[in-house]
Amino acid sequence: MIKIKGLHKSYPMGKDSLHVLKGLDLHIKEGEFVSIMGSSGSGKSTLLNIVGLLDIHDEGEYHLNGQLIEKLDEKKAAILRNKFLGFVFQSFNLISYKSAIENVALPLYYAGVSRKERLKTAMDYLDKVGLKEWANHLPNELSGGQKQRVAIARALVTKPKVVLADEPTGALDSTTTDSVMDLLKEINDEGMTVFVITHEEEVAEQTKRVVRLKDGVIISDEVITPKVTV
Ligand code: ADP
Ligand code: MG
Repeated sequence: MIKIKGLHKSYPMGKDSLHVLKGLDLHIKEGEFVSIMGSSGSGKSTLLNIVGLLDIHDEGEYHLNGQLIEKLDEKKAAILRNKFLGFVFQSFNLISYKSAIENVALPLYYAGVSRKERLKTAMDYLDKVGLKEWANHLPNELSGGQKQRVAIARALVTKPKVVLADEPTGALDSTTTDSVMDLLKEINDEGMTVFVITHEEEVAEQTKRVVRLKDGVIISDEVITPKVTV
């Protein structure tokens, strides 16, 4: 699904440049539940933005679903994003003056789906994340965990192949963090590829594979054995 080889990325910094990703190799297969761990500033968001076609790498190769990504033609990138990717962010990125159901339905509007069909599908996804009763509430009437559930429903509504989540629990307390991670796990159990960025050990260990990033390179890549609770 995601195939990265020798990936480099620098940002211009005055006369110099800041070399953030220094040759990453990463393969993520369909159906995986992977987290990228690393301290703040280690380049996690840079990587996710490249994977999410929001930014372009300088060197190396990136294949998304078998397609080589060479440059970021915005129109083409938008089509690929709509077709393959769902995004979840730390700050939820909900539209404040739109109700929960309208937020979830928005990607379907851009996909040209009729209003009736949009609202029906959006309600199905709100139901899936346990928020059917909250459909007509505005984001500021929802708790942090509920807002993130709305954002997850919105990420799923176009049936992407991969969900990309950048610090999805960064603004949540630990109980809410667990429930959001449980929801991502459930989505993964249904077959979705889920790619989570985090700097929290507790979050990473709830995924199935942890990739650690440090000083621009991958320092470890391990499969997590699930904890058995009795
Ligand atoms: P993380 O998500 O792991 O905290 P980032 O990928 O956001 O790290 O950032 C990695 C480094 O690149 C940081 O030093 C950050 O300041 C820098 N950086 C990120 N985005 C930009 C940008 N658009 N322009 C210049 N520097 C950036
Ligand atoms: Mg980040």
